[in-house]
Amino acid sequence: MNRLQRLATGMFGPGVERESRQWLVECGHCGHTDSVWDLGGIRYKASGTKRLPGRRGGCGHPSMRVVYRLP
Ligand SMILES: [Zn+2]
Repeated sequence: MNRLQRLATGMFGPGVERESRQWLVECGHCGHTDSVWDLGGIRYKASGTKRLPGRRGGCGHPSMRVVYRLP
């Protein structure tokens, strides 16, 4: 857990981690997914999907990544 995650958990409780783990970041190139939490981020009380460019995790190929919540 990094500083941001510790801070958010302290403010909002353990639900932050639970919810952040339900949010996945999928690589648009190979389909590899990581949870937002595992990538060192948080996502809480959010909805919808979003797209962001990047190459972190998975294959390392630059592509659009899709962030979505598990149903
Ligand atoms: Zn990939």
